[in-house]
Amino acid sequence: TTTKKTHKVTLIPGDGIGPEVTNAVVRILEATGVKFDWESYAAGAEAFEKHGEYVPKELYESIERNKLALKGPVTTPVGGGFTSINVALRKKFELYVNFRPIKNLPGLETRYPGVDLIIVRENTEGEYVGLEHEVVPGVMTSLKVITEKGSTRIAQWAFDYARKHKRKKVHAIHKANIMKLSDGLFLKCARNIAKGFPEITYGEHIIDNTCMQLVTNPYQYDTLLLPNLYGDIVSDLCAAFVGGLGLVPGANLGTDAAIFEAVHGSAPDIAGKDIANPTALLQSAILMLHHIDEAAAADRLQTALERVYTEKKTLTRDVHGTAGTSAFADAVIAAMAVTA
Ligand code: NAD
Repeated sequence: TTTKKTHKVTLIPGDGIGPEVTNAVVRILEATGVKFDWESYAAGAEAFEKHGEYVPKELYESIERNKLALKGPVTTPVGGGFTSINVALRKKFELYVNFRPIKNLPGLETRYPGVDLIIVRENTEGEYVGLEHEVVPGVMTSLKVITEKGSTRIAQWAFDYARKHKRKKVHAIHKANIMKLSDGLFLKCARNIAKGFPEITYGEHIIDNTCMQLVTNPYQYDTLLLPNLYGDIVSDLCAAFVGGLGLVPGANLGTDAAIFEAVHGSAPDIAGKDIANPTALLQSAILMLHHIDEAAAADRLQTALERVYTEKKTLTRDVHGTAGTSAFADAVIAAMAVTA
């Protein structure tokens, strides 16, 4: 049953397709019967125009208070311009886990049926520390920072998750043949943690081989533990197994806060047309419902979502349907009413 509690959630609609998919998901969440109190804030270029800040102070304060956010994608300029809002939020709240479950939805045909992978990506360090320098004109350096603390806590989280959810294998993914010290330390920490989990098979694969292995046979993996950059890239690769970026959810988790967001970005190529698939953010919202102990609502929503996919009548274009973002949301809401 649904709790009587009102959940305060910071909402970041984002830009590009962000506002469209966020609106759809908020509407669906409201229909679950769970009570929400949304605190909505702009971030990125839009926030800069309005407040002169890329991340308004009020947004930081809201997440500090609520310890919970649902977030649409935010565009980050390529090359120059402001630094990523996404990276800034993850660093600020030490959201060291980026959890991305990759699972087929029933009814949706894909090249690889029955994929069930867990991606655990380190979310605060590696190349994403953003320490880049021009040494002399024509020579740039970029620091990759891997720490014992950062590597140990992400490995611990991955193995704890694997134990709790009865997963069989964890593979640490690396390039320690070349980056002997940094990726070497990541592996050393993973190996140390693995010793405490004798029931879980531990393996180590080099990142380039991993990409080939994944595409050849994704079923050989179970849980992938990756440093930040490899985790980012492999997430998009794995998204293709289950129908693309419109499907795959994510959770940025730390000790004191959690931000739920899809793997995909702001998709400027399809923004403002009511064609984006809100499923990825919706599945992120289902993870959020579990996080706030609203398991009954999460299950009801999952069942309704699966029903819409099984019926195949109201799917978005990326999954070979013709429905728009809002029509898809309406169909999920209608399916919830049927399954209630
Ligand atoms: P993208 O994920 O936005 O889009 C890649 C492709 O997938 C596009 O063809 C797009 O149309 C499609 N796609 C993505 N989401 C979809 C959805 N929900 N439904 C249907 N199709 C979908 O990647 P990109 O184009 O490389 O990046 C665009 C911007 O997003 C960049 O500025 C990038 O920095 C930013 N970004 C933000 C986040 C975030 O906010 N967490 C994550 C990734 C990228």
